[in-house]
Amino acid sequence: MAGGWARDGAVSEQIEASISDELARMQARAKPTGESLTHCAECEEEIPEKRRTALPGVKLCIDCQSERDQSFQAQGGINRRGSKDSQLK
Ligand SMILES: [Zn+2]
Repeated sequence: MAGGWARDGAVSEQIEASISDELARMQARAKPTGESLTHCAECEEEIPEKRRTALPGVKLCIDCQSERDQSFQAQGGINRRGSKDSQLK
C-alpha cells in the first residue's frame, strides 16, 4: 500500500524537477542578463532608460519584445501547456 504512494510521489517529484529545470531555462532565455542595450537589437529603436533600469540586460524595445513573447508563447503553448499551467497556478 505505502509502496504505491511512494512510487507515485517519486515519479511526480521527478516530473516537477524536470519542469522546473525547463522553466528555469525558459526564463533564462526570456530574461537576458548582462548589460542592457541602449538601442533595440532588432529595430535599433532607442530603449527608454526606465525600461533598461527595470529589465537589466534588456536587448529589445517594447514592440520587439512583445512580438517575440507572443511568438514564443504561441510555439510553447502547443507542447508545454501542462508546464505552463503549473507555472501559473
Ligand atoms: Zn525593437
